[in-house]
Amino acid sequence: MTKLKEAQDWVREDWEENSKPVDEKTEILFLIEEFGEVAEMIRKIDGNKNRKKVKIDLEKEIGDLLVCLASIANRHHVDLEKAFLKTKRKIQKRHQKGY
Ligand SMILES: [Mg+2]
Repeated sequence: MTKLKEAQDWVREDWEENSKPVDEKTEILFLIEEFGEVAEMIRKIDGNKNRKKVKIDLEKEIGDLLVCLASIANRHHVDLEKAFLKTKRKIQKRHQKGY
């Protein structure tokens, strides 16, 4: 679980050192844009003869999406690891109840 925190910290530090600040709306638009690129790669996998390359591209786009999400979490001081663990517990409770 430490790795998720390290990733979030890296995004924060890298943005502070190397990126021009963007407003929240732009940040959300980047997230949506990357989400669309993930969807595009998934669509391309189906029936594509060059699946291996598309899967590599999918991995790259999921990485982009994760960085955008970390940036939004940083803006709002949300700890991604804590957020993930809360959701994990919620899902586990749901499964214990037999939903
Ligand atoms: Mg991308």
